[in-house]
Amino acid sequence: YFVVPFMINILMFMTLVSSRPLLTNIKLSSPPNRTTENNLCTDTLCMKTASSDYGKLTQELPFGVLQPLSVSDIVRLVNNSYTSSSPFAISARGNGHSVRGQAMAKDGVVVDMSSLNKNNNNNSNTGIRVSGNSSLGFYADVGGEQLWIDVLQATLLHGLAPVSWTDYLYLTVGGTLSNAGISGQTSFHGPQVSNVLEMDVITGKGDLITCSKDMNSDLFYAVLGGLGQFGIITRARIVLDKAPNRVKWFKIIYDDFAKFTKDQERLISVDGFDYVEGSLILKNSPADNFFSPSNESVISSLASEKGILYCLEAVKYYNDQIINTIDEELQVIFKVVNINSGLIFTKDATLFDFLNRVRDEEILLQSLGLWEVPHPWLNLFVPRSRISDFNQGVLVDIISKESLTTGPFLIYPINRKGWDARMSVAIPEEDDNMFYTVALLNSAGPTVDPSVIDNQNNRILEFCNKAGMNIKQYLPHYTKKEEWMKHFGAKWSVFKEMKDKFDPKMILSPGQRIFNSD
Ligand code: FAD
Repeated sequence: YFVVPFMINILMFMTLVSSRPLLTNIKLSSPPNRTTENNLCTDTLCMKTASSDYGKLTQELPFGVLQPLSVSDIVRLVNNSYTSSSPFAISARGNGHSVRGQAMAKDGVVVDMSSLNKNNNNNSNTGIRVSGNSSLGFYADVGGEQLWIDVLQATLLHGLAPVSWTDYLYLTVGGTLSNAGISGQTSFHGPQVSNVLEMDVITGKGDLITCSKDMNSDLFYAVLGGLGQFGIITRARIVLDKAPNRVKWFKIIYDDFAKFTKDQERLISVDGFDYVEGSLILKNSPADNFFSPSNESVISSLASEKGILYCLEAVKYYNDQIINTIDEELQVIFKVVNINSGLIFTKDATLFDFLNRVRDEEILLQSLGLWEVPHPWLNLFVPRSRISDFNQGVLVDIISKESLTTGPFLIYPINRKGWDARMSVAIPEEDDNMFYTVALLNSAGPTVDPSVIDNQNNRILEFCNKAGMNIKQYLPHYTKKEEWMKHFGAKWSVFKEMKDKFDPKMILSPGQRIFNSD
């Protein structure tokens, strides 16, 4: 496993050093004795990490891995490529949690963004710095390499926190802003890309540019959801708000899809809750430690009887000061929204434990050897008008009937109002104030081959296509240019124009396969 890539690496090293003279300007060596001029790593561990990701479905060997000690190291690298007569590919790698090689750079250089973090004492542009005040608003200037878990911990020290999240926090700021960054808070605050005030970006020409809504706004909007195509984010100014310290957390079980979605839509249409999601419970779903063992047995026998159940998940933030009145407040909200299901379960948790909830699952799966497995995920945005057809055709007739894996499978509506149409990210074009997100988060493993799940994913896409559903993939993966053009729809011409402007030599993030597709 180790020896073959290492030998390929040596061969590539010899070929590329002779064929790409500018790359030799970055002196090659391996850690730990790195200096600013001496930070391109080609050892086995660097190469192995940079040529794999969370999905474990793609492997692309780079020429080497830049471990920058400062933002200027990255500027120099991109400049080297841009001014070369034979430019080489460059890909920022955040935490490598893509599933289809999106952060890889075949024969090029992968920039290991986490290296900036290791050195952020000497770095004025990276790290996490909290500023602002209650009248003008709070924000944090955060390095693109920072993990959201670290942003949470650093901001909580000031009694503050970002308002928009992903379900899992071991993702980088640069990585999620290149997609959208969504979770149950998105309906109330917009996705993470809508909660950025300013960014520093290294374009594909090697220029370090500060951009915002009012300054270099074309770059600003292109980068948000731009799949790494226009620049490398080295700093983002993230909106913060006062952080509550506790949450009331609900899970509500339904056997009727129409009632489930109606209640979800009500909850995201009124003030009261701070987070709304939903998921499937199938016959083979594993126990959820949210529920007590007796609740769990009621739910699992109902799931066996019905074949498929829907679990609405909602959270209300609160502070210790109102601990005596929060339950009354909740009763009022539930009356207003007229929740229909009989099976309501509640838990009380700290804000930190709630936001970091997936970490416990990760640790458990790691201990069972089930985290480091292939992940043929399919994430979709589905127009609200077709969600009932999607439920029958995909969730009931394919996912539940075929029961290939246990998921998780998420489904929840998102308010459209938080999505600025100028951002690159593609969402359903339908004229409706909501759309649905569906995350089919399959893991392959010893019993299910990834190709079996991919086959199912292809049939799902085919079903949506035949039914004329106009879905969009989130965290998209396409191999053909026409598919990308269809994905971006009306946004494609601006996307292409911005590429010509900010990365004309098509150096950045080739692993997305947009401008280098078939
Ligand atoms: P990488 O995989 O390293 O990179 C992703 C892309 O962004 C690549 O094209 C890369 O070149 C580019 N990139 C990375 N850093 C930068 C930068 N600084 N500047 C410019 N481009 C850059 N997403 C959600 O929205 N909501 C969720 O709840 C959610 N949960 C997840 C849970 C798990 C367990 C996993 C594995 C993923 C989840 N995701 C979720 C998806 C995740 O947001 C994306 O995969 C994201 O890209 C991962 O961030 P990363 O830092 O690992 O990026």
